[in-house]
Amino acid sequence: MNDQFDSPYKSPVQPQQLTEDSKFCFSCYPGISCFNACCKQADITLAPYDVIRLKQRLGISSSDFLQQHTVPFTIDADGTPGIKMRTTDVDPVCLFLDEETGCSVYEDRPTACRYYPMGLLTSRRSDEYHDEQHFAIVKEKHCQGHFEQRELTVGEYRKEQDVEIYDELNRDFYRIIIKKKSAGPGIGKPSKMSQEFFFMAAYDIDRFKDFLTSKNFRSVYDLTDEEYNTILNDDIERLKFSYRLLKQVLFNEPGVPLKDNALQKRMEERKEVIELRQKAELELAKQKAPFEDYIQD
Ligand code: SF4
Ligand code: SF4
Repeated sequence: MNDQFDSPYKSPVQPQQLTEDSKFCFSCYPGISCFNACCKQADITLAPYDVIRLKQRLGISSSDFLQQHTVPFTIDADGTPGIKMRTTDVDPVCLFLDEETGCSVYEDRPTACRYYPMGLLTSRRSDEYHDEQHFAIVKEKHCQGHFEQRELTVGEYRKEQDVEIYDELNRDFYRIIIKKKSAGPGIGKPSKMSQEFFFMAAYDIDRFKDFLTSKNFRSVYDLTDEEYNTILNDDIERLKFSYRLLKQVLFNEPGVPLKDNALQKRMEERKEVIELRQKAELELAKQKAPFEDYIQD
């Protein structure tokens, strides 16, 4: 083996894919020598249910949470919007870290913090319909928990960290991301408006509520009053609904019933608006014309 080549890009992600029954050694507890070290090198990508848990914990709106506690990044080459937890500027210390007591939002900490030192990998083979979940251990130098002699299975660790509800409520989000990626350039680069809609529906669940209460929404989508009130008043139900709507808007999957002739009516309304706009542009052009002639002369 040629040991002269020493790649500078050493990934801490261990190459073995683990399943629920795979065993590993790990323990983390207050008092361990590296306590809080991971939260001082935080690079936490947030999923939609993380936002709901944290904004509820802090008693603020999703819009305020996004503004105060997150930074944007792009998930893929098409510019699909993602969000990461905001940290201090100089060192990436999580803003929720309390030096004395550790995580100040522990009961509502994000999925990535619960899984650490494990990574959740969601993938889908091109010839299969269903996606698969795998796990991998992430070994970083600062984490001493790997040297503790407590053996447990991946399944036991997931239970201990209470990740099931997070996985359940983020699963459709990961599916949408994977499907968006695998759709490739065939469906074209998404417009700015479509990215903004994705961001609102996925992360800004309170602003999404404003969208649902707009007149246009109810004139197009056919929901019973009961269903409509539930999605307006319950963040979790609204998140589930946002996934249905995103799949419908992005991939044309039937998810939310449309009112009879709703799209046709909407197109007619749009046609009127477009015609009025064209007329106004024409008038403006007529008014500007003599001046333009003068310039050209
Ligand atoms: S949310 Fe809590 S556990 Fe996660 S990085 Fe911040 S302080 Fe650490
Ligand atoms: S670095 Fe590892 S062992 Fe230390 S506090 Fe973080 S997760 Fe626990």
